Amino acid sequence: MHTAMVIIPHSDDAVLFCGGTLAKFASEGWQIILVHVTDDTRDSVGLTAEEAKRRNAGELQESSRALGVAEIVELGFPTDSLADVPLGQLRERIVYHLRKHQPYAVFSFDPDQLGEDNMDHVRTAQAVTEAFWVAAFDLHYPEHFSEGLSPFSVCERWYFGRELARPNHIEEVTDFIPKKIEAFLYHQTQIANILHQLILQARTWGRRINIIEDAANGDPRGLVSMFLTEQAEELGNAWNLGEEKLGEVFRLERFGHLEPLFQLHSEPIPGAESSVRREGLDK
Ligand SMILES: [Zn+2]
Repeated sequence: MHTAMVIIPHSDDAVLFCGGTLAKFASEGWQIILVHVTDDTRDSVGLTAEEAKRRNAGELQESSRALGVAEIVELGFPTDSLADVPLGQLRERIVYHLRKHQPYAVFSFDPDQLGEDNMDHVRTAQAVTEAFWVAAFDLHYPEHFSEGLSPFSVCERWYFGRELARPNHIEEVTDFIPKKIEAFLYHQTQIANILHQLILQARTWGRRINIIEDAANGDPRGLVSMFLTEQAEELGNAWNLGEEKLGEVFRLERFGHLEPLFQLHSEPIPGAESSVRREGLDK
């Protein structure tokens, strides 16, 4: 069984950016581990920080169960403050969990994405990118080895983001968008906060956006369903997936420019779990 690890700062990031793909992988028998970097203690409206943290953690559990996530690792860094945490401290925790769970694929924010203003996303992307190669060094964090861990290298990195600079892979997830919508709707506390931000901004603009107000005061199901379906539809169309096919887009990295050389000169390791063929990378 292959393992995929998704490393995200906030409870709603995984479902929003790659929920369809995670649900698809889980349905194919992959073990999905979710590393939640922050405590989401401020991601709410009208709650105390303690209550926000409690609700977001609970909603992440429900949402993860819907997607088929096997395990959640809570790192507990304060939310919206990762820019104040030394990068090495965050990187060490990620290296530790890469070595411990040995994922075939890791999913996280792209360090090269455009226009990202959320520093938790930026810092997580930077820490994951560096942890990828540092985890393989036997002189980095040798204290991990006394627990029985070993140097380790992930095979595939699946980077996502609001606007990817170099997307190279679309995952067809048509059958899994309903799961993604169901999972996202568990995040009531995050949804209330997102809607509240938009209402405040529109108020300053001097207007009200009825679909946002209605969702905030009632049931956000229709709005969430419309937004997530249209987003996946637009990507499917842009990438020519085919009639009414839905997708999620990534920068998928394996060996970079060495890929063709390694394909030519590699052979299966006897007894090893089979490698996964990826369209666009495998020739
Ligand atoms: Zn986020």
